[in-house]
Amino acid sequence: MLNVGLTGGIACGKSTVAQMFVELGAHLIDLDRIAHYVQEPGKPAYKEVVHHFGKEILQPDKKIDRLKLGNIVFGNKKKIVELNNIVHPLVYQEWHARLEKIRTKKEHAIVLSDIPLLFEGQMQDMFDLSILVLIAPEEQIRRLRIRNGLSKEEAEKRLKSQMPIREKIKLADIVIDNEGSVPDTENKVNKIWKKLLHLEKQKYKL
Ligand code: ADP
Repeated sequence: MLNVGLTGGIACGKSTVAQMFVELGAHLIDLDRIAHYVQEPGKPAYKEVVHHFGKEILQPDKKIDRLKLGNIVFGNKKKIVELNNIVHPLVYQEWHARLEKIRTKKEHAIVLSDIPLLFEGQMQDMFDLSILVLIAPEEQIRRLRIRNGLSKEEAEKRLKSQMPIREKIKLADIVIDNEGSVPDTENKVNKIWKKLLHLEKQKYKL
């Protein structure tokens, strides 16, 4: 198995690229989805998050209201750390369990984990290698505005909370420039896929 971390700034094209790899045969684990999953009623992080932030974060159906929770923690570093301290270890556990499940079923799988904040969270050690999807900040703002219907100011604000792209380039093993057309990126992904298959084989030769 090859365990790959896929990252990139918001709206750089991570999901688009991830789907291209899935079509070629990769297994995808979406860490944002796991973070939501572990906070569903009855799942491991639910009780602790509700206990910590109070019942006012609940919807009438008892699910955590992500918008309300977001409003409490957004811009409050201490509260973000508190939430992360509850949720992150459980996300890690669930991620690891899913990874092992794939390994058991398919020994030579290529597994891609989509993690927006891989470098910010210094999670490189969790992976055999990392792939960074990038575009220029101006294009990032343009695509983010189109996708999420944001104003220029709102889009710029979201970008500011992330590590500058030039810092990420230094940390990534493979960089995919997604500034061109979708077919351009598809060509790049096809080439990288071959490389990943090769690396997976090499891993067991060492
Ligand atoms: P991320 O998962 O990194 O947030 P997405 O894959 O959702 O980013 O891409 C952000 C937006 O840009 C989406 O609306 C997507 O359709 C669009 N997009 C992705 N790649 C390209 C490309 N090469 N050219 C133009 N638009 C693109």
